[in-house]
Amino acid sequence: MISRSSMTPERDAAYRAALNAALATGQAVLAGGGSALDAVEATARVMEDNPLFNAGRGAALSDDGSATLDAAIMDGSTLKAGAVAGVTTTRHPISLARRVMEATRHVFLIGAGADVFAREQGLEQVPNSWFITARRWGILEEVLREDGRPIPPRPSGLTDEAPSVSVQVPVSHSPDEARFGTIGVVARDRAGNLAAATTTGGLTGERWGRVGDAPVIGAGTYADAGCAVSATGTGEYFLRLVIARMICVHAGEPGTSLQAAADRMIKGDLTRIGGDGGVIVMNDRGEAVFSLNTEGMYRGTVSSLSPARVMIYADEGGNVDGPVARAAAPH
Ligand code: ASP
Repeated sequence: MISRSSMTPERDAAYRAALNAALATGQAVLAGGGSALDAVEATARVMEDNPLFNAGRGAALSDDGSATLDAAIMDGSTLKAGAVAGVTTTRHPISLARRVMEATRHVFLIGAGADVFAREQGLEQVPNSWFITARRWGILEEVLREDGRPIPPRPSGLTDEAPSVSVQVPVSHSPDEARFGTIGVVARDRAGNLAAATTTGGLTGERWGRVGDAPVIGAGTYADAGCAVSATGTGEYFLRLVIARMICVHAGEPGTSLQAAADRMIKGDLTRIGGDGGVIVMNDRGEAVFSLNTEGMYRGTVSSLSPARVMIYADEGGNVDGPVARAAAPH
């Protein structure tokens, strides 16, 4: 779990710097007149390259030692969405999800078919080992050992280094670093359109072939004209409650605040059935809220009117009201 006692000052600072860099990426896109969709994709790409977070390089590993990546993106203004699950060689799964949305008639591609589509689309390909860091391998070994499951042979030459090309970055991540830590981004652009993006390696030690909530539209990712959500946590519980869309449905009910809609699902229903995690949520007025039932979640928010704020622990900071462009990243 993220707890103050387990966090070193260096690690705390590294996460805060990464969150700020992620927010700066999204904000620059929005400030330049880019769409919410462009902002969430660009922000998620930077986070995918940052080994601190569970997505792209540094993704949580499956029980066979491979990185199998899931991602989803949704455009609130059109309700168009794209998602991929179990992809293994695309450096930026979030861009593959966007390509599914824009270049096919489909919403969701999985496994080998999605990998082939990525190559056909000319998206940057990397060997699966590119995603695997020494730190994540260590966490995988711990989880498998605890569960008494066989440990696959450790690949040689693992490091924790960031790739030379990109800047650090992520955004919110999840509560139990050892097992999850998906990244997510929601944004509202000048035109008032919302978008959401979520990208993850899933849960450490997940059975090979398992897919969580992150790429499932309505469960881990959702955006419509009034509300955008990205979730992190124990995906099976988010799937059962269809959390992301339910938050948007509740947010549209008269007299319900955005915070109340998010808390109802996270502190209410999710907690009641034994799930852990949190969400980042934004509405069409640019109000950004977070809700979590864990001790911490890496998260941050920025807008054209208010400076970036990043938070790690549950008791840090509040939510922000404000108009215009705002990018927030959860998990
Ligand atoms: N929700 C993700 C999943 O279940 C994991 C995470 O949030 O880190 O796959």
